[in-house]
This record gives sequence, structure tokens and C-alpha cells, in this order.
Amino acid sequence: MNIEEFIKEVKKLGINITSENIKQLEIYCDYLLEYNTHTNLTAIKTKEDVYLKHFYDSLTLIKIVDLTQENTLLDIGTGAGFPGLVLKIFFPHLQVYLVDSNNKKTKFLDSLIPKLNVDNIEVINNRIENITPKFLNSIDIVTARAVTNLPVLLELATPLVSVDKYFIAMKGNSREELDNSKYAISTLNCQLNKVITFNLPNNAGVRMLISVQKNKKSDLNKLRPYEKIIKKPLQKKHI
Ligand code: SAM
Repeated sequence: MNIEEFIKEVKKLGINITSENIKQLEIYCDYLLEYNTHTNLTAIKTKEDVYLKHFYDSLTLIKIVDLTQENTLLDIGTGAGFPGLVLKIFFPHLQVYLVDSNNKKTKFLDSLIPKLNVDNIEVINNRIENITPKFLNSIDIVTARAVTNLPVLLELATPLVSVDKYFIAMKGNSREELDNSKYAISTLNCQLNKVITFNLPNNAGVRMLISVQKNKKSDLNKLRPYEKIIKKPLQKKHI
């Protein structure tokens, strides 16, 4: 996807794109591809693919949530900033937290962010389960793209979400995973809000957005330790 196609598709999503946004993405893309020559951050190696499979794909989140109405966003397993940093560029009012346990990825983000002219953004090099107490019941939108299976992800992510707000998983086609997550969703005092399936432009693959709304505050004392979450994910047959 070249820049002209990118601009056209972003406008179709209903997002206002400014010349400042275009400059920020150019800096982001050039730095990512250059950094990727010495440190493995992404399998994507061309500018056209970065614009389609990282930048555009990250922005598709707005098909399922109106970010202009939200204040805080935390991205679990953000990697090289997807979707959290791209969303921050287009929705600068958001307070954004980018979380990843991989030190080389957060180091990349720490050196990229000062070049982008964005504020109210924090990069956190830690595992999400270690920082749950700090963010418990406090985030409007928690996101995760291409991070672990849905029952595990739900148990790690939903404690961070404020009551009535949303956890949104960005995945490839994962209908079966979703079917296997119904028990986890209800056990975690949440409800399935919306599911959107669509094709990326240029036949670049199927995407699924899954939005889960939280109904009740999480109690820190009742959360299961990570080892148990992994060993026995919340699925009826295991309980
Ligand atoms: N979201 C990015 C994207 O879509 O390009 C990166 C996806 S990558 C496949 C998964 C990322 O999740 C890795 O960078 C990994 O370090 C991170 N990750 C996995 N488990 C995590 C955890 N428990 N806490 C924080 N980060 C985690």
C-alpha cells in the first residue's frame, strides 16, 4: 500500500489525517525499517507492507470503538508499537501506555517516541501480569494485537479495564477461539460487546476485532496467578 492508497483508506475509516500525521508516520516507518536491519522487531521488511500491515491495520481498531470518546488506552504486547503508538499519533488526546516484556522492543520505542512529537505516552518494559495492581480497574480501552490465545488474554487484560469500558483483541480469523472464550468472558464478569470481521485492502488477509465490555470491578485478591492462568485457561472443560 503506497502513501496515497493509505491516505485514501484511512479517510474511508472516517479518520482525519493531517500533514503532521503523514510526517510522523514517515519518521516511524524509516526508523523501524532501519532499526530492523540490526535488531529483529518485525518480519515486515518493506515500506508498503509497514503502511498496510502495521499502520493501516492498527487504525482499523476504530471500526469497533470511537476513540474520540475515550481517555486512556493501554496496549498489551505492543511490540514495535502496534496498535498503541499508531493510535496515539491519530488520537493525540489519549493517555497511552505501551507495555511489552521484550527489552529490545521497548528500547526501540523509547528511542523512537522523542522523534514523533507526542506527549502523554509511557513505555513500560514489563510483563502485563506484573503491573496489574498499578492499573487495576482504571483503563478505558485495553488493546492487544497478535498476543497469546483469547482465554488467557482475557484473564490478563480485563482486570485493567474500568467498569463499563472495553478490552479489544485484534486477531486474524479466530471464530473457534472466540467460541472457546465464552466461559472466560462470563467468569470474568464481562460480556461480548461486538465482533467485526473484515478483509484488509489488497487481499492482505482476514482480520477480526473482538470487543469485550466489563460489567463489574475486579478484585485484586481474587485474580489467579499467571502460572495458573497458563496451566488451566478459563475453559469449562477444565473447571
Ligand atoms: N502487538 C504487536 C504487533 O501486532 O505487531 C506485537 C505482536 S508480537 C507477536 C507479541 C508481543 O507480545 C511480543 O512483543 C511479546 O514480547 C509480547 N508479550 C507476550 N506476552 C506478554 C506479556 N505477558 N506481557 C507483556 N508483553 C507480552
